[in-house]
Amino acid sequence: MPPTHEVTNQVPPLVDFDAADHPALLEGLRREGAAWAEDDVRAIGRHAGSAQAQEWGRLAELRHPVLHTHDRYGHRVDEVEYDPAYHELMRVAVVNGLHATPWQSNRPGAHVARAAKMLAWGQADPGHICPISMTYAVVPALRHQPDLAAAYEPLLASTDYDFGLRTPNTKRGLIAGMSMTEKQGGSDVRANTTTATPLSDGTFRIVGHKWFTSAPMSDFFLTLAQAPDGLACFLLPRVLPDGTRNAIRLQRLKDKLGNRSNASAEIEYDEAVGWLVGEQGRGVRTIIDMVNMTRLDCVLGTSGGMLTGLRNAIHHARHRSVFGAKLVDQPAMVNVLADLAVETEAALTVAMRLAGAVDRATRGDEQEALFRRLALAVTKYWVCKRGPAHAAEALECLGGNGYVEESGMPRLYREMPLLSIWEGSGNVAALDALRAMATAPMAVAAVFAELDAVHGADDRLDQAVIVLRKELGDLDDIQYRARHIAETMALCLQGALLVRHGDPAVADAFCASRLGGEWGRAFGTLPRGLDTDRILARAYHFAEPNSNSRTSGS
Ligand SMILES: Cc1cc2nc3c(=O)[nH]c(=O)nc-3n(C[C@H](O)[C@H](O)[C@H](O)COP(=O)(O)OP(=O)(O)OC[C@H]3O[C@@H](n4cnc5c(N)ncnc54)[C@H](O)[C@@H]3O)c2cc1C
Repeated sequence: MPPTHEVTNQVPPLVDFDAADHPALLEGLRREGAAWAEDDVRAIGRHAGSAQAQEWGRLAELRHPVLHTHDRYGHRVDEVEYDPAYHELMRVAVVNGLHATPWQSNRPGAHVARAAKMLAWGQADPGHICPISMTYAVVPALRHQPDLAAAYEPLLASTDYDFGLRTPNTKRGLIAGMSMTEKQGGSDVRANTTTATPLSDGTFRIVGHKWFTSAPMSDFFLTLAQAPDGLACFLLPRVLPDGTRNAIRLQRLKDKLGNRSNASAEIEYDEAVGWLVGEQGRGVRTIIDMVNMTRLDCVLGTSGGMLTGLRNAIHHARHRSVFGAKLVDQPAMVNVLADLAVETEAALTVAMRLAGAVDRATRGDEQEALFRRLALAVTKYWVCKRGPAHAAEALECLGGNGYVEESGMPRLYREMPLLSIWEGSGNVAALDALRAMATAPMAVAAVFAELDAVHGADDRLDQAVIVLRKELGDLDDIQYRARHIAETMALCLQGALLVRHGDPAVADAFCASRLGGEWGRAFGTLPRGLDTDRILARAYHFAEPNSNSRTSGS
């Protein structure tokens, strides 16, 4: 009998890699003040790349969370049941302090270390990162109400993962969510219709609905509601201090494009009890401190997704032969891979710079707070906008195999648009950048200080900065031009960071293509004369699995 199922020219599985092992990530970690965390970052990176964690991610995404609205007797329970793999992922994230732990640390670089770990661990499964991110982000908003912060912050920072609906202060650790978006609008939260009526005991009765509330098994949510003196932020626990359930009804779970390991619910507040956070009339001002932190995580998540895509693309190209040569040696593929690598490094570099800005701003550095205000808005817009295109191109490097679920690439592709939609969809992020420029002119100066620091080092960058200044000087049709302005500033910032801190070959390729105009409209259109060997050598560095590889047929 002739062999009918001989498997040849398939690539070995990509397992047992270190998801943190990219020079731009590790250099950023050291540069931004967290060299002390490198061993921990590498350890969680290896865990993320282990067969076990990758399998948890696969299972958590495959076995969707199940909503139970009622028990068998008809009582409302409003609970979501997750696959055990989801809990394993959450446990590792919490044990490693990827959530609120840095807020309790005085150590400079704590937020940078956490950012690097997020980048690495998010590659095991992006879905569960949503509640981890919200639990991180909730702290600055909660601090608008010091008594609540004092009660909850230590539990939010706890490294015990204690799942289940119980009174928050009886638990070993807490997870928090955010509940703003209503049916009639998510970007324009000032139009929220949920109401908050003051009660004699100082709490508020909350009545209304929320169209999106992710991680509905969180211990509490920050929500927005119309109070007598204007829109306000409230803390709503799932379980009240007397042990009874707060009247938070989970109506249904969203049937999402991706991010399925994480549940996102439509909920109703049916005379639920809430505690005011901050002042009435300043709800947006309060919750924006949470939103800003999750925006950082959108940038980190996209950068981690780019690492995943690049790693898979290179791994495939190194092992797959076409027309008598390995893909990685085919010039057209070299251009595609190098272009993807440049995009990834640019994203990682600015992501780590922003994590450093958050860290220093948290410790009172006002200049860094100004820089973060504007740089985060333009970067959230641009890096997250690049995510889907990057994932599509990385997927295509695997050919048909990339279109098949088992490769993991469709999951990556489905995840990417979310990071652009959530916490300020494209236009909203770009318009927020304009708002930052108008309301905090010193933020513009802070970003230009970063650009000017490398003036004269690269003519293409210098020219791009001149164009940017001209753009900002023209206020006509400014909203119509919002995306272009945000993109231009984000590109100048990435270019300046790469020229100043990055690898010279990567910086050269970035400036030639993204700033100098020697580029097409798709990945793989870098100009000639670049050191692609060196660019790919940096990217190859992480692409080889640590373990002995097997072919898929063995
Ligand atoms: C998977 C998932 C999970 C989510 N989880 C949560 C959660 O936990 N909590 C929560 O509160 N929300 C959550 N959201 C909601 C999310 O934050 C909103 O979908 C998002 O803010 C956009 O709001 P919207 O859907 O109402 O769209 P709209 O506000 O209606 O916006 C639609 C489009 O119009 C654009 N737009 C808006 N304003 C302007 C303008 N002035 N000029 C030009 N264009 C504009 C936007 O960029 C967008 O492209 C989640 C969403 C998803 C997809």
